[in-house]
Amino acid sequence: MPGRILIITGASRGIGAAVALRAGSAGYQVVVNYLESEAAARHVVQDIRDAGGTAIPVKADVATEAGVLKLFQETEATLGPIYGLVNNAGTTGGLARIDEITSNMLERLMAANVIGPMICLREAVKRMSTRYGHSGGVIVNISSLAARIGGAGEWVHYAATKGAINTLTIGLAREVANEGIRVNAVSPGLIETDIHATAGAPDRLDRLRPGIPMKRAGTPDEIAAGVLWLLSSEASYVTGTILEIGGGR
Ligand code: NAP
Repeated sequence: MPGRILIITGASRGIGAAVALRAGSAGYQVVVNYLESEAAARHVVQDIRDAGGTAIPVKADVATEAGVLKLFQETEATLGPIYGLVNNAGTTGGLARIDEITSNMLERLMAANVIGPMICLREAVKRMSTRYGHSGGVIVNISSLAARIGGAGEWVHYAATKGAINTLTIGLAREVANEGIRVNAVSPGLIETDIHATAGAPDRLDRLRPGIPMKRAGTPDEIAAGVLWLLSSEASYVTGTILEIGGGR
């Protein structure tokens, strides 16, 4: 909805950056959250501004409660009341079989992919729900097809965090359906971003491409298109849905 304030976690690169650019073009006031990549975040913000839109960068570690609070407080102080949240920031935890994982890996993974997103949901609901006198809002969580496929041999730990995101999406959608808030998820398949190289598998796209029915990886913008639809009033009767965008995978 034009002019409305949208927080996108992890929007300096990859899927989050693509969502930010589309949201800027659609007229949202976009909050480009990032962890470390300040130059990349500023680039996304500048692209939105150059196209006539409104955007601000906010550095905050959304794997921590303090970081989430900083993100929401800075957004409100700079732009005003929040209308939308795209819970996108996430990590894989790294390639490992279950017999190779460490508790440190798991703690960091759960903080980034489950606890942080849940705290973002708490802060969003408190600021959107008619129960607290607000006028509603819309939330899109970024899940993964790994939640359905399972990630065997690569990262069942990561897949399980995205299973949690799917369950959260369904449950929270029902919890706040009568409070003016829609909650949905987009579940991407194999997408061309840095996440594979960061996980230690720079050849992962090439390796898995032949197994994808469409024989190609998706682009971040193809995921962003689904997110923007779910955010929009075109999806006004859609809540609790997990939209898979995965080339038939
Ligand atoms: P990416 O290219 O690695 O980008 C990750 C983004 O998240 C960056 O902007 C990064 O910021 C930010 N980020 C990471 N941890 C953060 C934290 N603690 N606080 C704030 N920002 C943080 O990842 P991506 O591939 O776009 O993935 C985005 C989401 O899609 C993730 O939830 C991922 O699990 C999901 N997904 C991806 C794929 C895929 O194939 N790519 C498939 C299914 C699902 P900095 O730049 O500052 O580090």
